[in-house]
Amino acid sequence: MRYFVGNWKMFGVPKSINIVNKINAFVNLDKKYNKKYKAIITPPFTLLETFSKALKNKRVLIGAQNCFYKEKFSSDTGAISPYMIKKLGAKYVIIGHSDNRAEGDNDSILKKKVTFALKNKINVIFCIGENKTQKNKKFTNKVLKKQLSNVLEKKFNKGNIIIAYEPIWSIGTGKIPKISELSKTIFFIKKSLKKIFKRNNSIKVLYGGSVDSTNIQQFNSIKILDGFLIGGASKTSKKFIDIIKNYYR
Ligand code: PEP
Repeated sequence: MRYFVGNWKMFGVPKSINIVNKINAFVNLDKKYNKKYKAIITPPFTLLETFSKALKNKRVLIGAQNCFYKEKFSSDTGAISPYMIKKLGAKYVIIGHSDNRAEGDNDSILKKKVTFALKNKINVIFCIGENKTQKNKKFTNKVLKKQLSNVLEKKFNKGNIIIAYEPIWSIGTGKIPKISELSKTIFFIKKSLKKIFKRNNSIKVLYGGSVDSTNIQQFNSIKILDGFLIGGASKTSKKFIDIIKNYYR
């Protein structure tokens, strides 16, 4: 099963449902859907309800891009809890995106976010990734291992966890890792997950960073790669659909 997850970031207004409807129409007709892949769109909080209501009983799933580190209600101004996004129809939540890490989400905050999202039975897409300096110093594996082991715990329900490997130097830059290097990194992440969860696990690992319809096909050679987190190229239905089409070409 492959995942194509669109991260809209701060983009979209209610009528942007047209984009999601077009993606939904495409996957509805695609025989590979359900058997081979899932499509998920994560709009801003403001659109969660509109999108998930409009798409009820349809195939594109809706997720949130973040959540607060408390479970339900609290006196934190501007915060939105896992419980609240769940009530708005979010089936997935991105946690640990490098944008949010840069804004102060540290490992202890991220652990709470993951814990409470899982408690609310929301699937967590947990992002990890090294920056350019760390890559140049060949610290990638060390950084990734720490990001995983500082937050994930054996007791977490691994059935509801997906990892997104997003090298920071690749996000929004048009640069992607060499396929041979990426393949090794995905293997390393899966090996590290086995150590954390103390046995064979089936946790999916996605890649994110400048994925588009022109470069997607080369990722197809990495059989252990379970899908993609797509930023810029997920904001038009054509680009998103072309990514899926070209991946399976
Ligand atoms: C992202 O921010 O999660 C991302 C993958 O962005 P882009 O595809 O635009 O590099």
